[in-house]
Amino acid sequence: MVQRQGLINAVTPPACQPRDFGRHQLSNTSPAMRRDILPSFQVEQKMEETVTLQAQPGAAYSAQAGLATRLSAMLRSMRVVDLSPTLERGIPNWPMHPPLVIDKARLSGRDGYYCQFLMISEHTGTHVDAPVHFHEHLLHMSIDTFPADILIAPAVLYDFSDKHMQPGDLVTLNMVKAYEAENGVQIGEGEIPLINFGWMQRFWRTDDASTWFVKNAPGIHEDAIIYFKDRGIRAIGCDTVACDMAVIDGVGQETTGHTTHWLPNGILIIEMLTNLHKLSLRSLFVATPLKIKEGSGSPIRPLAFCEE
Ligand SMILES: [Zn+2]
Repeated sequence: MVQRQGLINAVTPPACQPRDFGRHQLSNTSPAMRRDILPSFQVEQKMEETVTLQAQPGAAYSAQAGLATRLSAMLRSMRVVDLSPTLERGIPNWPMHPPLVIDKARLSGRDGYYCQFLMISEHTGTHVDAPVHFHEHLLHMSIDTFPADILIAPAVLYDFSDKHMQPGDLVTLNMVKAYEAENGVQIGEGEIPLINFGWMQRFWRTDDASTWFVKNAPGIHEDAIIYFKDRGIRAIGCDTVACDMAVIDGVGQETTGHTTHWLPNGILIIEMLTNLHKLSLRSLFVATPLKIKEGSGSPIRPLAFCEE
């Protein structure tokens, strides 16, 4: 029998103050010190002692197996969703950002081995924004200063794909509250809401019309932006190019998540997620940014381990 219950709780970080995720201990420390005080997850909930975990056919683990073995088996028993599109030439890219370049720099027949060269923006494909992306004075909050496990947390899907939103439309607090009431969920402290506008499914493409995806997008109203901040989220993800910022014909609209409520409060913004329609209501979000010195963000390849 596979015991799935409790995984999400088991990897929830210890209680912390809203929106700081351990950084309250770090506020008076230098960036160098912050890197040394990285909170790691602690398992607070003891797993069921009598269960036998079946990681894969023929491999049974007893309750005496180590925690890492049991956790690995538990993760393998869950449905995993890959949340990033393939990195390839022609993917939608914010027009002001340098394009993604993938060059076959070394070829087996010519060079004896095969290797590609990448030129990639920190904001290409699925990626995470760090506070310094919009706030030059927050250089001490570049992506490399955050705990490596900052993006490993329980996630809640907020699915608005059935609203058929148009460029410039906004998800409002009323919509968020109605969704929560209808589905019996609410984002919790330290968790990650994942907003599905349905944009990836409808408009992602890699041909010569790919830029429409980034030049047009719905966004999030300030009342909902503040609500998510007040819930104490650690990050927020979405399937558009700029999450809270709606875009109409290439013109970005108001973006108080980036400018005022999220990034300055250390809430990271994850953009251009795919496959959100495959998620269960609750999942375990797992990603880690590249350790880019003074990085404004980083490409990531997130996975979601789904409860159903
Ligand atoms: Zn970005």
